[in-house]
This record gives sequence, C-alpha cells and structure tokens, in this order.
Amino acid sequence: MYFMFYNLIFLINIGYYLIDAEKMEPSIVIIGAGLSGFSAAARLIENNFTNLIVLEAEDRIGGRVHSVKYFEGNFIDNGAQWIHGEKDNIIYQIAHKYFDFGSTAFDQVDQTFLLSNGSKPDQNTCRKVLEIAYKILEDDDDEMEDYEGSLGSFMLKKIYEKLNEPQYKKINRQLIPVILNSIESDINGYYGSKSWFNISAKLDAKYDEAKGNQHLTWKKKGFITVFDFITKKAFGKSNYLDIQNKVQLNKKVVNIKYDSNEVMITTSDGTKYFANHVIFTASLGVLKKYHRSLFNPNLPQYKITAIEKNAFGAVGKFFIEFEKPFWSLDRDSFVAYSFLWNEAEKKEAIRDNREWLFSISGFFIVDQYPNLLEAFLGGEKIDEFEKISNEKLIDDCVWMFEKFLGNSIAKPKLIQRTKWLNNENFLGTYSYVSVDAYKFNVGPKDLAKTLKNSDDKPIVLFAGEATDLKFPSYAHGAVTSGYRAAHEIIDYYIEDD
Ligand SMILES: Cc1cc2nc3c(=O)[nH]c(=O)nc-3n(C[C@H](O)[C@H](O)[C@H](O)COP(=O)(O)OP(=O)(O)OC[C@H]3O[C@@H](n4cnc5c(N)ncnc54)[C@H](O)[C@@H]3O)c2cc1C
Repeated sequence: MYFMFYNLIFLINIGYYLIDAEKMEPSIVIIGAGLSGFSAAARLIENNFTNLIVLEAEDRIGGRVHSVKYFEGNFIDNGAQWIHGEKDNIIYQIAHKYFDFGSTAFDQVDQTFLLSNGSKPDQNTCRKVLEIAYKILEDDDDEMEDYEGSLGSFMLKKIYEKLNEPQYKKINRQLIPVILNSIESDINGYYGSKSWFNISAKLDAKYDEAKGNQHLTWKKKGFITVFDFITKKAFGKSNYLDIQNKVQLNKKVVNIKYDSNEVMITTSDGTKYFANHVIFTASLGVLKKYHRSLFNPNLPQYKITAIEKNAFGAVGKFFIEFEKPFWSLDRDSFVAYSFLWNEAEKKEAIRDNREWLFSISGFFIVDQYPNLLEAFLGGEKIDEFEKISNEKLIDDCVWMFEKFLGNSIAKPKLIQRTKWLNNENFLGTYSYVSVDAYKFNVGPKDLAKTLKNSDDKPIVLFAGEATDLKFPSYAHGAVTSGYRAAHEIIDYYIEDD
C-alpha cells in the first residue's frame, strides 16, 4: 500500500493492470547468454521491461547450446542436440508448427552389440537384458519412489530378480556382467554421473520426462535454431525481440555485491554495473566452485547446502568422419554400436593408457550426415578424455574399432570434440538427482529460491536448468526457468487491479 501512494503520480491505468510508471524502468542485469538468460530477457522485453543487459563470459551466445559449423550452412551440436519429448516440452510447443524436426532412430532400430575380442555376441541376449533394464526404468516408478538407495543398486536388484523368472532362464549368464557394464555406461552418459551408484532412485522417480519422441533434432541447422524461437525471429521481423543488442560478450562476472535495494556487479575487466535486480544463470558447476567469491555477502546457508549437495555431472561427445561408412547405410538396420569389454582387452587398454575409452557408451549415426559417427561418453574418465590430444583420440578409437570389429578400418577424421568439464564457464554439462541431494533434502527449489528484501522485492534471482522444478537438466527446463525468473520481477511491479 505504501508503495502505491508514494508513486501515485506515476500510476497509469492499462487494461486490467495498474502499472507504476517510475518502476517500469527497473534496471536488470542477466548473467549468462544461454537459454535461460535469453528466455528471461525475452519475457521481460515482451512485458516492456527493456532496461536490461546480459553479461556473457564467453565470446558467443548459446551457453550449453553450441552448434558448430560442420561445413557451409550445416551444423553439428557440441551441446544440446535433441528435443527430449513433445508433451509439456516448451521448446517443442513453441516450434513444432513452424519447424520440420528430424529424428534419430534410437527407439525404432536396435543397437548392435560388439565384444572386445572381435566376436559378435548373441544380439538377442544383449537386447533382452537391455529391454528388461529400460522397462524397469520406465515402469517401476512406484517401487523406485519407495527405494532409499541409488539407481544403480535398484537396477541391479530388479534386473537380477527379473532374470530369475522362468521365461529368462535360457539367457546366457556369461554375458550378463558385461551387458550390465554397458547399461551403466549408457545411464552415466544420460545423467552425466560418474557412477550409477551416485544417482538417487527415489528422486529419479519423482521427475517425469516429457512424453513423446525423445530424439527430435533441428536437422542440419543445429540446436542453436531454438534461439530464433525464443527471440521470435522465426515469426518475422515485426515480432523480433532484439536481445542480441543487449548482450555484452567476453564479460566474465567475478562479483555480485547485493544489499536490500540494489546490486553492484563487477566483471573481470573491472567494469561495474549497478542494477535493481540481477538474474544469475551460470551453471551449478560454476556455482559450486565460485559461489563464495561471486556473492557478497555470502549466500544463505540453505542455498550453499543445495549448491554443494545437488550434483552437476559431465558427459563428453566427439564426431568422427569416415570417407566411406563401414556401418550399414541402410537407416532401417543400424543406429548404434554398443561396446562390451572383456577383461583381457580391458587389461590391454589399461596397460597402454587407453582407459578413457571405457567411458564411451556407444557410437551412433548422426541425423542427416551419412559419413559421421558420434560418440557419447559418461562416467569417471571424462577429465581424461578432455585432456588427451586429438591424435591420441583418433589412434585409440581406431585401436578400439579394430578390436571390436575384428578387422582393420580406415583412419577417420576428427570433426569436433567437447571439453565442457574443463571450461571454467561451465565446469560440467548438466545437473542430476544425486543420493546426496536426497539425503540432505535439497533440490531445484532451493537453487531457484530468490533473495528478496523485507518488502518482498526480488533482488538476486536464479535461473538455469538446475533450478527448474519440473525438467531440471534439460534445455526445455532452462527455458521455463528463465521465464519463471522474469515473471518474478514482472509480478513484483505489476499488480492485479
Ligand atoms: C554435451 C551436452 C549435451 C546436452 N544434450 C541435451 C539434449 O540433447 N537435450 C536437452 O534438452 N538438453 C541437453 N543438454 C542440456 C542443455 O544444454 C542445458 O540444460 C541448457 O542449455 C542450459 O542452459 P542454461 O541457460 O541453464 O545454462 P548455460 O547454457 O550454461 O548458460 C549460462 C551462461 O552463463 C555463462 N557464464 C558462466 N559463468 C559466467 C560468469 N562468471 N559471468 C558471465 N557469464 C557466465 C556461460 O558462459 C553460459 O553462456 C546438453 C548439455 C550438454 C553440455
């Protein structure tokens, strides 16, 4: 009430809202030009909150969306690659009427299993065990929600229970341990976890994925196309929200000093920015390492606990090009190789310093590019993968293919590789639901919580995938987290009539 009388002179009546004209120009700094930062900026500008800037440490926009040129006008994705799901996926919902998505056929075509001694294991056995594992993940949510331990121990318990049922008695038992290793590797690749024993089964059951096709692609245009939809560029010039103009690149924020009324933000080149509100969107990895030096005063203890106990994982990818594909060109019969390591070749790889190869969960085809194979990596060896030279990466891959295929292959060309874990502006790839987060009862809600003053004015706001209540880790979660933070500011200034 006090706020309304004080500013009475500036009140203008627009439709259903009373808008405080003075306060319509609050200054807002958004830290990070990734999906959540852009989404927050878009929503603010749409609501006439235009007094904002976006500070970005990298020399590009996009953050963990990083489409890189493969050849003229054709992109591949070092970061987000697939739209995971249709229903409730905000990215799909905004874009699907205007963009003809591609798809990677993981759900339609069975993967091909290879053994490290060059023999082809019985595909039916491998696929049966895999099917059992994925059915448990999909169907056993109720039981999982009551399970206190890790996803790894839950999966092992359930898979062995199933395998003891009479219909699976004939399955070759010798292969099971190596197939289980491969399933764990897939799961680590999906979550970014070092081990599936770090993932909380209970928390995992709590989060549903968006239903529908999990592997829609932006074809050759790359995931960066999503920004044309966030800025409405895709809907024509008159709708375009010019956020690009508000972005300052190569501006690494090193300190955020806040009090009950405003913030002072300092970048590494010494520039200072004063604002009424700041929206912080850098990754949970950045927060883990730098929250103490970034925030002055220190963040409240509940937030520090959430930052420390929520997990931020790391995956890797690389793309290799072959002059002639040696895998099937028939898209109906090949989608991916899964590698099953025997002890003998494992020992050989360790002896020859090729342990990073164990983190490859598989090689698969790339939508639209028939000569490319993409590797996805998860687990413990991501740091090692990021640190080896390009030459060694290729040499080790050739060694591995020749072992598993049992014949020689032509040397491929390295097209792209990722280094997210060792990039100081990311320090990993995405968050996941950890056993520790469950133990300490922390989650996205704590990471998302805004620091407000005693008048309920939001001062320091947090967005980014790890803060999304419904779809943490995903690109669509990043978008909705940005919208949520923008609305907190908008709602503070705009009151229902
Ligand atoms: C390899 C990989 C594969 C993925 N695959 C998929 C997928 O297929 N589908 C999917 O839905 N999601 C996927 N994701 C997740 C998705 O990319 C992220 O959820 C989303 O892009 C995160 O957006 P964000 O805005 O939260 O964070 P970011 O994109 O990290 O944006 C934060 C920005 O802050 C900047 N920044 C950091 N520190 C500072 C600082 N001190 N000062 C200024 N700026 C700073 C960063 O440079 C960055 O640009 C993938 C991610 C990776 C890395």
